Amino acid sequence: MIIRYRKKPLSLQKIDSLIARLPEGHPKMAMLRKQAAMDQKGFNGERKLDYHIESLSDDYSILNDVCFSLYGKKTQIDSLIISVQAIFIIEVKSYEGVITFDPELRQCYRVMEGEAERFKYPITQVEAIQSTLLRLLQLAGLSGLPIYYFIAFSERSTLVKVKGEEESVKKVVTYVEDVPFQVMNINEKLIEQKSLQQNNQLRNKIVQYIMQHCEDFDKDILREFDIKKDDILTGVHCSECHHLGMVRKIGNWCCPNCDAVSKTAHLKSLQDYALLIGSTITNVQCSHFLHIQSRHTTKYILQQSPTIKKHSRVLWKIKHPSNRTFRK
Ligand SMILES: [Zn+2]
Repeated sequence: MIIRYRKKPLSLQKIDSLIARLPEGHPKMAMLRKQAAMDQKGFNGERKLDYHIESLSDDYSILNDVCFSLYGKKTQIDSLIISVQAIFIIEVKSYEGVITFDPELRQCYRVMEGEAERFKYPITQVEAIQSTLLRLLQLAGLSGLPIYYFIAFSERSTLVKVKGEEESVKKVVTYVEDVPFQVMNINEKLIEQKSLQQNNQLRNKIVQYIMQHCEDFDKDILREFDIKKDDILTGVHCSECHHLGMVRKIGNWCCPNCDAVSKTAHLKSLQDYALLIGSTITNVQCSHFLHIQSRHTTKYILQQSPTIKKHSRVLWKIKHPSNRTFRK
């Protein structure tokens, strides 16, 4: 049963908005596009995992895209699967090609055209996640379930090689489509062993605790890429031809490039504002950002927008539309 759904990562939403609002030829454009492509690939890989783990029975609670803080440090987990017997951490990797694990030196790399590209050793990464999660649950008085983990490649075409001792890698490295089987396999052995009492209450408390402490992983994208706020282009995008600079005419947004007409094109622009500049906006800032001449028109637009709420005398709050839905 899916308890927490995955949504497009906030950092990727920010990069996509930024790319659409920087002038072509901006010095950071190539770097941003590269990062966006990498993040999108990672997100696609995680969604492939979602597709496969959805088939697990209701005995398993699935929490996707978990992020929590402990001692001021954030920990991100692609998916957590929690049964009455155990907790499973799943980390998705979208590397392609031939990936070599060296468990002795704890190295992971890919050789392409004679050049070795190194990755952080995934098993070390996920072991760190495992111990942080264990600590989080201990501190909450919710320890008791064993925590297992898997590193799942999203592409079946990725070839995994092991240099040296294979067993420790084979045990934890898999493909996204094999995750349900691997999880059920361990879980059924635990049921057979009867070494652990079925503890429904503990499982429910763990799920509830993690849900209450889940955060959205966020980062300051302008600072990360060293981009000034002044570089961000203002205006309303046309949803048909992506031209930036729709014009407000008698209650509609009109595109001077393709003649498309829209009533709601400004909503996406206000989302961009919230993602890149701030979640509150004044009438003056809004008029400037949307290229509206009359502050009365701006006020009307803000009042009518479903994602905007009056925040204080001069500030309006832009609500972030979350497409993550929670189900009990
Ligand atoms: Zn257009």
